[in-house]
Order: sequence, then C-alpha cells, then structure tokens
Amino acid sequence: MNLSRRGAIAAGAALAFAPLAGHASGGPTPMVTLLHTNDTHSRLDPFENGKLAGQGGIARRASMIRQIRREQPHTLVLDAGDIFQGTPYYNVFGGRAEFETMTAAGYDLATLGNHDFDRGVDGLLEALPAAGFTFVNSNFDIDVPVLRDAVKPYAIREVGGRRIGFFGLGVKFEHLVAAAFHKGVRYREPIAVARQMVERLRRGLACDAVILISHLGYFGFESEPGDIDLATAVPGIDVIVGGHTHTFLDVAHVVTQKDGTQTSIVQVGSSGTHLGRVDLHFGPHSRPAVAYQPFLVTA
Ligand SMILES: [Zn+2]
Repeated sequence: MNLSRRGAIAAGAALAFAPLAGHASGGPTPMVTLLHTNDTHSRLDPFENGKLAGQGGIARRASMIRQIRREQPHTLVLDAGDIFQGTPYYNVFGGRAEFETMTAAGYDLATLGNHDFDRGVDGLLEALPAAGFTFVNSNFDIDVPVLRDAVKPYAIREVGGRRIGFFGLGVKFEHLVAAAFHKGVRYREPIAVARQMVERLRRGLACDAVILISHLGYFGFESEPGDIDLATAVPGIDVIVGGHTHTFLDVAHVVTQKDGTQTSIVQVGSSGTHLGRVDLHFGPHSRPAVAYQPFLVTA
C-alpha cells in the first residue's frame, strides 16, 4: 500500500483525513501522526494584506494542533528550521517570542536553519531557554558547550507504543551565515552522517520509523545535496520533513529505493501559512505506509 501517491487522499478532506483504525487496548497503535512546519520566519501573526492575507498565525496553528491532538493523541509536532527572522518580533525579542509561542502550541522537535544564526551563536543561546522543545541536528560539530547540550544528534519519541527515531541535518554555512555568526559550529557533509544515523536508529536503537528533519532544502545548492539527493543516496528514511527552499509540496515527493522501500519528502512553503500532516500507518510490513497532506492555516 502506498498512500503517498497523488490521488490517494481526496482534496478538501477534513483535518482528520485518515480514519483511526480501532486497536486492542494496550497494544501498539496502528497510526502515529507528525505535524510539521518550516521557514516560519517569525510570522506569529496572520498576514494582513497581499495575496496571503488572512493566512497563517501561530494562534490558529496552535488551535489546529490542539484539535488534531484531541482526535489523534499519538501526534508529534515538528519544525524544519528558519524559525527566526522576518518580522519585528525577531528584531525586538531576539527569537524568544517564536520559541515561547511554539512551545505553547505544543511543538516537540525542531532543527536549526541558517537564519536561526542571524544573531550569532550568542543570540541563539539567549533565546534558547524559551524553547520547551528539543533541537536535533546530526551534522554540526558543536564546540559551544551550552549549545552542544541543547542540540541532540538524534531523538527517540515513544508514542502509541511505537519508537519513532528523529535526526536532523543543517545546510552548509558558506554564503549563508558569516563565519563569526557560527563560531564554534562546523558543518559536516550530510550524506555520510545520514547513513550513520539511519543505521543507528533503525538497527542499533530498534526504531519503528526513522524521520529526518532537514534544513538542506528540497533541491541542493551547487554541489551540496538537497532532500531529493539525500533520499536517493541514503535508504532507510521513512519521511524527510524539509525546509529552507520554501517549497510547497501538495503531495509528497516519493523516492523509491532499489529494494522497493520508499522515502516521502514533504515541505509546506514558508511563513506558517500551512501545517503539514503526515500519518504513519503501521501494518504487517517492517516499514510504515506514509500519507501526507498540507492544510491551510486560516480563520
Ligand atoms: Zn534556510
């Protein structure tokens, strides 16, 4: 069964688009849901004018998350980076407003984007206490002790009796972040790192699903790999929750490996106008079937 292909999910479906299958109490749930955003860029308020008028806003996003969690308690909320920069909220509060509201909205995990270094490592550290969620990044060598403690190479969340493994990948700093702003944080080539993380999470740590939260971009820049390159080069990832390129995917981009397993790449544009929903359907196979749909955030 492949729920990711175009047409599998009817357009305009309600928020709870995938019916919850019944399951024996105490046993593992057949479905785990991931909600996701990327490149929200300090857009805490809905757009007031322009072609995006009425879209977005962290309060509405929080309401949607609450509503979905009421129907589907086995839900985790993710962000793929570039939380900072774009509105006066960032200029005035230095990122604390973004982290506080995301925490209140129920975010569980995020990765770091290039713009999250816009006030340097020190600026990120100042805002960090306001983040009640976990950062994952696996390809930054971090020599700053407080940041190294806060940013985990991987994370496992047990939800509905399933072990969901997460890792994160960040984009190369060159041309994007001045050296002084990422002092003590060094980029490593992501493909080799991803192979190690998949091996560790899937085999070493017995995860039922492996999710990459990526700020590499849907397409890579010059010789750097993007999410499509990574999915092609590294089998074993169920879902890549992407960011950086502000790509809006109305259906998942599915990469099929030589062994027939699949990786679904998802991304929901930018500025919090949409909330992505990924349902992992666990069945008789070793890997879950993946269903994806983006939802407009509006009043
Ligand atoms: Zn970015």
